[in-house]
Amino acid sequence: MGTICVVGTGYVGLTTGVCFADLGNTVVCVEIDLQKLDTLRSGRTPIYEPGLQELLERNLRAGRISFTDDYTLALAQAELIFITVGTPMGPDGAADLSQVEAAANQIGRHLAHDAVIIDKSTVPVGTGDLVGAILREQLRPGVSVQVVSNPEFLREGSALADFFKPDRIVLGSADRAAAEQVAELHAPLGAPVIITDLRTAEMIKYASNAFLATRISFINEIAQICERLGADVREVARGMGADKRIGPHFLDAGVGYGGSCFPKGVLALHHMAATAGCHPQLLQAVMDINVDARRRFVTKLREILGSFEGTLIGVLGLSFKPNTDDMREAPSVEIIKELQAGGARVKAYDPVAMEAAGEIMPSVTYCATAYDVAKEVDALLVVTEWNEFKMLDLDRVQRLMRRPVLLDGRNLYDPADMAAKGFTYRGVGRGLAAV
Ligand code: NAD
Repeated sequence: MGTICVVGTGYVGLTTGVCFADLGNTVVCVEIDLQKLDTLRSGRTPIYEPGLQELLERNLRAGRISFTDDYTLALAQAELIFITVGTPMGPDGAADLSQVEAAANQIGRHLAHDAVIIDKSTVPVGTGDLVGAILREQLRPGVSVQVVSNPEFLREGSALADFFKPDRIVLGSADRAAAEQVAELHAPLGAPVIITDLRTAEMIKYASNAFLATRISFINEIAQICERLGADVREVARGMGADKRIGPHFLDAGVGYGGSCFPKGVLALHHMAATAGCHPQLLQAVMDINVDARRRFVTKLREILGSFEGTLIGVLGLSFKPNTDDMREAPSVEIIKELQAGGARVKAYDPVAMEAAGEIMPSVTYCATAYDVAKEVDALLVVTEWNEFKMLDLDRVQRLMRRPVLLDGRNLYDPADMAAKGFTYRGVGRGLAAV
């Protein structure tokens, strides 16, 4: 049996590699970041993802997964080659494809036999054709490849569950047999498989992300209206979500979406649309509302404190969502920047993201517990909805604070309870209790 090669061991590549190994495949991962490579070879995962460490150890022990920076070695037996490198946001909003192009060039130069190249990175529509063109330019005579787009829908924090129980597998290719070969690899998962053309598969990923981001911006707009009109957005979302046509997911009002996927995905789709001569008004509104959600949160605090000058503010939760240490486009970063720009000193706690946060926000004081953050602060902000914040002893928190001001950017607490405890409490979109 041929092996699987995974190019790039970030959140997506490492999960993909480890999980395919766990299904019994032999997987070789190729990574150019030597520090990451060292960590992986010593049996440790460089990222925090629940369950991944155990699965990595198990498959290393079984000899089903290995890591290298040597493309010749990685490709030697590979029948299926996944590209899972990063596609960060470029300066003009378009996705930066330099890692994908470099990976395609490397594969083209080192591949010595026919193979299927599967693009899992989120790439603009048309990139599969570009990857095919790069490969064909580099490949030695007689070697041929087929390109398949296989967009990734995993969520950080539940990546393993998402891998093993996907809602669907999307495969796009000009070559049906290649798509079916990739479908076969996924057969043990028992998930529905949608086979389509390359460009449509690439578009499915962007449209899905943009739709989810739209739901979040939609509910944040409703939250703003709820605050003014005295309704409670959590109840509104519950009432809406009970309708099968709507469903309950992605209707949590808060400080907006973040992470490595939604912000760049919506922006890249907007860019693709505008470049193609379309007028993507809804996508623009989705992005504007998201920026606004963070600003309004900070504005609410300014209204209570008057000014941030000389204040000490505590922040609970830094990662862009719970169960990950990923700080990319995390709302906490912009919120903290605004607080500091106004003259506040900031203390913070996050169960796993403080190391990553420290690299981008060295001027924040990081604390060992949520209670340490609460000590002597003029206000406490909940920015990420980690489970442990739901279980805080709020009476203790209040006793520790200098002023009992709590801004709940994730609607974890009940406004009436918080008022009864003596907090000046603001949620998001919580009607009269929130204004
Ligand atoms: P990442 O930045 O965490 O990882 C990319 C990895 O690729 C890095 O380790 C980097 O060193 C390595 N790399 C770069 N160029 C290389 C090369 N030429 N050869 C070998 N390795 C190379 O990225 P990620 O979060 O895993 O995302 C990967 C892709 O998947 C992106 O397109 C992203 O949009 C998409 N995606 C991400 C998620 C997510 O939740 N993170 C979900 C779905 C889709």
